[in-house]
Amino acid sequence: MKLGVHVSISGSIDLAIDRALERGCETFQMFTRNPRAWKTSSLSEEVAKDFTQKLADSGITPTVAHMPYLPNLASSKEDVYEKSVGMLTAEVDRCGSLDIPYLVTHLGSHLGAGIEAGYRRVVYACNRALSRVENKVIILLENTAGGKNSMGGTFENIRYIIDRVEQKNRVAICFDTSHAFASGYDLRSAEALDRTLETFDRVIGLDLLKVIHLNDSRGELGSRIDRHEHIGLGFIGEEGFKAILRNETIKRLPLILETPIDERRDDYGNLEKVRELVKAN
Ligand code: ZN
Ligand code: MN
Ligand code: MN
Repeated sequence: MKLGVHVSISGSIDLAIDRALERGCETFQMFTRNPRAWKTSSLSEEVAKDFTQKLADSGITPTVAHMPYLPNLASSKEDVYEKSVGMLTAEVDRCGSLDIPYLVTHLGSHLGAGIEAGYRRVVYACNRALSRVENKVIILLENTAGGKNSMGGTFENIRYIIDRVEQKNRVAICFDTSHAFASGYDLRSAEALDRTLETFDRVIGLDLLKVIHLNDSRGELGSRIDRHEHIGLGFIGEEGFKAILRNETIKRLPLILETPIDERRDDYGNLEKVRELVKAN
């Protein structure tokens, strides 16, 4: 099993690797820059070299990058959209320089302009970023909780976009358990999980599934509420996670926690919980 967590880059990006090692991660996720700012300094050759060297020495693989919070690849506001496409392009490039094979992105919100307009913008964003940057980085489209105007709440939404990306070998899927559950895909038992994965396979194809975001959900099934919960303490629950961790398809994929840190538990506690559930299986 490859288990990891989203780690902070506070201080400098290479410290993410130290934090992943400290936590006993076999894989991890990070931002490549401050996720709350549009602007960032470009990556110096030295910073990239230090990072890639440390990463290679760590033996951890794969590393996953997550897009910053501000971009909206489906935005109907022209200025935000332009900046978002620019950031996706820059991130594909940065991931290449940092030897990060996967870049996870949300599909954004069409802000009321309609799903057709949203599709057009997301597809164009992916195609432009991939055509501008030639490297091996794969953009992973993440399913969402399916809130109002959001673009990736159903497997069909994601299929539609993937079908229209020109470089098929450079786009795949990151499946977030919390988002899937909130958008109405049940995961609370082995039978429910099988049905959900069968649907995924029929609509998208399990061969496109590359990374799992392993989060419990604070919202109920179909609530469309995007609130992550500690593993086993949310509505997916321990039985659900036992089934998820037993599943042959899922257990060979990188599993990354994006669980909260609060008085109940931290990253160490959630990693331990997952290992405990695996043992109990
Ligand atoms: Zn995400
Ligand atoms: Mn996620
Ligand atoms: Mn979320």
